[in-house]
Amino acid sequence: MSQPIRPLKSMDRQLPSEEAADLLALTRELVERELAPRAAEEEAEGRFPREAMRLLGRSGLLGLPYPEEYGGGEQPYEVYLQVLEELAAGRLTVGMGVSVHTLACHALATFGSERQKQQWLPELLGGELLGAYCLSEPQSGSDAAALTTRAVREGGDGDDAHYSVTGTKAWITHGGVADFYSTMVRTGGPGPTGISVLLVPADTPGVAADAPERKMGLKGSPTAQVRFEAARVPAERLIGAEGQGFSIALSALDSGRLGIAACAVGVARAALDYAVEYARTRTQFGRPIAEFQGLSFMLADMATAVEAGRALYLSAARRRDAGLAFGKEAAMAKLFCTDAAMRVTTDAVQVLGGYGYTADHPVERYMREAKVLQILEGTNQIQRVVIGRKLTGG
Ligand SMILES: Cc1cc2nc3c(=O)[nH]c(=O)nc-3n(C[C@H](O)[C@H](O)[C@H](O)COP(=O)(O)OP(=O)(O)OC[C@H]3O[C@@H](n4cnc5c(N)ncnc54)[C@H](O)[C@@H]3O)c2cc1C
Repeated sequence: MSQPIRPLKSMDRQLPSEEAADLLALTRELVERELAPRAAEEEAEGRFPREAMRLLGRSGLLGLPYPEEYGGGEQPYEVYLQVLEELAAGRLTVGMGVSVHTLACHALATFGSERQKQQWLPELLGGELLGAYCLSEPQSGSDAAALTTRAVREGGDGDDAHYSVTGTKAWITHGGVADFYSTMVRTGGPGPTGISVLLVPADTPGVAADAPERKMGLKGSPTAQVRFEAARVPAERLIGAEGQGFSIALSALDSGRLGIAACAVGVARAALDYAVEYARTRTQFGRPIAEFQGLSFMLADMATAVEAGRALYLSAARRRDAGLAFGKEAAMAKLFCTDAAMRVTTDAVQVLGGYGYTADHPVERYMREAKVLQILEGTNQIQRVVIGRKLTGG
């Protein structure tokens, strides 16, 4: 028994401007027309929706939080995140894809020189190009500062100045389909202070992606190792100063974690809506199962988790928009929203009973997708490490 997803109540939100309401309405329309109808089939087949990403780019949705003068949408983070939630509710691969692209643009947009921003940012934000963020390596995941991909500066200080980059990046979202890689490399000694950021075009000779990983879920979003073999990257593609790369990477992650939190709420919301509709129409013992208190309490807890998650990511986003410190709150939002998404999607499967365990309904896919959100951009154990350190100053 397959059921339509109930229209989501995205329009009854408190939004800061009419422009924001229009943006959300446009997003909703794109989701309903382009993303949601193809999501189940394309995820099952592991097909990346490159055209849909281009369409989002042309609609101005790939550079929302960045300044207008470089081609961005200059929207507050609280608006950008709600757009992400809408996209992820329609298809996580796309919501996360936009979040990862935004993360990949962060170094240039925030730490690039004026000349670098004018030269490259408009094409990164314009929608034709897609970005990836390359921090993790096979041997350095949670301990990201232990990365070993080496960039050696060669060619003097003139036009020939370049870095020769050698190493392997692991788990790269958009690996093999991205047009540029925002890449953390080691230019100095061990530890965080030896790390720098290079903005590497994907067609640089010596850069190649392996076949995508065979994942439990999120199969439409390619995740691959990216190999650098003496790849020659012009020195002008160094973003910020040598040695500044790890703090740039962490500042990108503070913002990126808010994106993951919003995506998690989107997936949870889609699961909740589906479960509510199912519970209203499925009858057992002569009554809709929604009338059994055991089930309606479950739905009530799921709805509360969705609302609490949204409130938490919005409150962290508003701190960011106001120029306040938000790293601790971003880690809390990522931790809470992704754990909530795991619980809500698991409960949605339970609400559908045996039907929930089949691929005839989307809730088993939501459950598989929610799992990865507890792992990427810092596992939820690492979020607790971040929060604990901020609390105690350790
Ligand atoms: C689908 C997917 C997409 C991804 N996309 C990207 C991407 O685009 N770019 C990118 O750079 N990376 C990406 N990642 C990598 C992701 O960020 C890492 O997988 C994650 O940081 C964990 O690293 P790891 O897998 O090496 O696990 P490990 O670091 O080996 O951790 C293994 C376990 O140990 C725990 N652990 C480790 N250290 C501690 C500690 N100090 N305290 C308590 N527990 C600890 C972890 O929480 C985890 O449970 C992606 C991963 C996945 C699965």
